[in-house]
Amino acid sequence: MYKYSYDIIDKLIFENIIKASEAKGKPISCKKGCYYCCYEQVLAQGIEALITTVWINNQTRHFRRKIIKNLKKWQQKMESSKLNLDIKMPQEVYLEADKYWKSNIPCPFLFHNSCLIYQVRPFACRTMLAASPPENCKRLDGAVIVNCSSFEQYVRSEFLKVSQMLLNLPIDYKQKEILTYASWFPYLVIKSLE
Ligand code: SF4
Repeated sequence: MYKYSYDIIDKLIFENIIKASEAKGKPISCKKGCYYCCYEQVLAQGIEALITTVWINNQTRHFRRKIIKNLKKWQQKMESSKLNLDIKMPQEVYLEADKYWKSNIPCPFLFHNSCLIYQVRPFACRTMLAASPPENCKRLDGAVIVNCSSFEQYVRSEFLKVSQMLLNLPIDYKQKEILTYASWFPYLVIKSLE
């Protein structure tokens, strides 16, 4: 199910953003092995974390343990850098973006410069696309990021509709609570894996 949904989103991103940017003379330069944007703040809606959690729970126990270990380390670094973790609304989290970048904390899903959850990575990662040389992404303001805001708004409103539908189903209390959050993506996965 999630695979089908993300396949559709990827197809839309390819047709509406990647091809469109290329047609404007700004080809996307993101490629396998790029990872600088994995040091940036990643925000997501609760539904994205639930999808990722279902996927993680379907992997081997060894893989799941490794993910949980990485998430714990990430949480400790966040706490020692005095970053505000327990935030449920994105407006407040945005305020932490600069501080997060300066803290140099890699995403807990990054391993040997690759994304461990690539198939179920959140929408924010899928649309973080640069049209400048990858090394420019070493600096927060160095990259030419392709604007996807109207497309993003559309997809986010669809996520919201699905979340509202799920809230009416007999799912457990914890899942319902997470569905109402929008926050740091790893934090949401921590909450939903608990
Ligand atoms: S989820 Fe994957 S793609 Fe997104 S920031 Fe983390 S490692 Fe990078």
